[in-house]
Amino acid sequence: MKKEQLTIPYFVVTENELSEEDRQLVELAKSATRTSFSPYSHFSVGAAVRLSNGKFLHGSNQENASYTTGTCAERCTVFYANARYPEAAVEVIAIVARREDGRFTPFPVSPCGACRQVLAEVEHRFKKPMRVLLFGADEIYIMESVGQLLPMQFNADSL
Ligand SMILES: [Zn+2]
Repeated sequence: MKKEQLTIPYFVVTENELSEEDRQLVELAKSATRTSFSPYSHFSVGAAVRLSNGKFLHGSNQENASYTTGTCAERCTVFYANARYPEAAVEVIAIVARREDGRFTPFPVSPCGACRQVLAEVEHRFKKPMRVLLFGADEIYIMESVGQLLPMQFNADSL
């Protein structure tokens, strides 16, 4: 038996260290938390994407009394982006979460497993890395691709 180890590189930055373009995307994701429908979790999540055609889009978590039918901000946003601009790759996604008290989480909130799978599919579909900005008020994590969030992923090449 051979033991292997994965390491996941990512950057840790503060808001002041973001490029103007990334800061703009984070601000859009922050404002998207205001469109969240989250009467059950009281946890508002916003996501924003920049596409290869230069468009910016945003989405938020949309909950339902039948809990499992709701969807996360990440899936809401990338499905919306792919529906509006099916030929445009998602170049960057920013994800922000806000608590019931109205404050943004101090540390990044990472996408759930289902969202990671969807983001991986979108990245694989366009054969172009999708940068991921996970916002926290105290620190921000930046990954250069979804592959870093979901190593050993199952995708179309697996079939
Ligand atoms: Zn999710």
